[in-house]
Amino acid sequence: MTEVEKRRGAAPVPRDWTYAPAPESREIVALHERYGLFVGGEWLEPTETYTTVSPADEEPLATVAQATPAEVTHAVAVAREAFIDWSALPGSERAKYLFRIARILQERSREFAVLESLNGGKPIKESRDVDLPLAAAHFFYYAGWADKLEYAFPNREPRPLGVAGQIIPWNFPLLMLAWKIAPALATGNTVVLKPAETTPLTALLFCDVVCQAELPPGVVNIVTGDGAAGAALVDADVDKIAFTGSTEVGKAIQRRLAGTGKKLTLELGGKAANIVFDDAAIDQAVEGIVNGIYFNQGHVCCAGSRLFVQESVAEAVVDKLKRRMATLRVGDPLDKNTDVGAINSRQQLDKIEELVAAGRAEGAEIYQPPCRLPERGYWFAPTVFTNVAQSYRIAQEEIFGPVLSVLTFRTPDEAVEKANNTPYGLSAGVWTEKGSRILWMAERLRAGVVWANTYNRFDPASPFGGYKESGFGREGGRHGLAPYLAGAVQ
Ligand code: NAD
Repeated sequence: MTEVEKRRGAAPVPRDWTYAPAPESREIVALHERYGLFVGGEWLEPTETYTTVSPADEEPLATVAQATPAEVTHAVAVAREAFIDWSALPGSERAKYLFRIARILQERSREFAVLESLNGGKPIKESRDVDLPLAAAHFFYYAGWADKLEYAFPNREPRPLGVAGQIIPWNFPLLMLAWKIAPALATGNTVVLKPAETTPLTALLFCDVVCQAELPPGVVNIVTGDGAAGAALVDADVDKIAFTGSTEVGKAIQRRLAGTGKKLTLELGGKAANIVFDDAAIDQAVEGIVNGIYFNQGHVCCAGSRLFVQESVAEAVVDKLKRRMATLRVGDPLDKNTDVGAINSRQQLDKIEELVAAGRAEGAEIYQPPCRLPERGYWFAPTVFTNVAQSYRIAQEEIFGPVLSVLTFRTPDEAVEKANNTPYGLSAGVWTEKGSRILWMAERLRAGVVWANTYNRFDPASPFGGYKESGFGREGGRHGLAPYLAGAVQ
């Protein structure tokens, strides 16, 4: 309890309005010291290992496998064997397994949320309120489709492809796993999934869920390791690769798969425009801007990292934004009051620092609210740049951190032109009170998702994916089934 100030004749008021620490307990998570490879429903002893750490304090958490090409090949062979029976099951039976997984995820959501924050650095309130509910919702949603594929693609005789190799990034580890595994299983495929090297632990805990749900052995296989393990999966005898990650690696995978006949979907990077018109509800827009760029430390492919504000309200918006930024609480990811957690890795922190230095050097004006960052671990204060030119690196390159670049525009045409001036095309936001303007903008913005008067909203029923260098193929919705089916079109 903070001290209170007592004044005669008036109610006592606290002297200090800061929140007291409210840490979530780690007790609920029982970590093993060492994890193997989850193949064919059992744990295989790995030949090589590495240590995964907590980015908030650099403490080692567990030893995990660095899968070798031979181990990856074995996992794919096991998945292929399991495909025979799994693909022969009626859709209504596959659906039962997916429902079970969804229910178990809900039941164990606190455990998963704590582990996600521990291994990834994201605030517990985000893993608890966003990642976990959405991951469970994805399994529920695709469970519903499993016995309705003929209705989803009438007269097409949709058939599963076989074994899907799935490679995911570190920003939403369990959620990206759900985006990948749920549609693949619903459509009758088996999978070998490789989580990102810095965040393997929730995928490894998911193996427990797979066992609890009594999923037939070999239907879901998890191999951990770095890019070399990912590359081995790309080269293995899979029928499809579903990749979420950086544009650079996505391009390398596409080159690798050219001519092999393997199917491919790529969910890659972004540099989204969040566009605020002068008739927008400014306070609401400021909340949307903050959510757009500081949610998950800005480690979001669809982060609203370029803010375009109509010139007449630019000053007011930036003033309000800075005031709001000063209230963001940066710190312990396991504290329930934390708004901005730890940067995921030393490597990512270096990249953010490099781009921020480039922004300063190119002449942009930087603002960071006063905040004390923890001494250990990887941290970066919420940052906003004003006086940004379109050509600056901070306006062109994906920073993937809590760094916003503010630019201005005068007319809707200019907003569209500037917003589309990027190699990416994943998402965009529009803030205005005019419905007609929202539709006019959405038609012209080259982005897979356009949010109107909101930002970063997700629903399993809604397809997600990119244009241009943000990739191809859609995840979510009925559209998300097609990349896992032969004979289906989106
Ligand atoms: P990354 O490309 O470095 O790694 C992604 C995954 O690919 C990891 O599991 C990694 O081990 C693996 N990998 C690395 N090299 C590989 C190779 N040569 N062959 C096969 N696999 C390889 O990306 P990251 O830094 O982990 O993630 C951040 C990126 O992901 C950002 O660009 C972000 O925008 C993007 N992302 C996109 C979406 C989307 O839906 N479009 C969602 C989340 C993240």
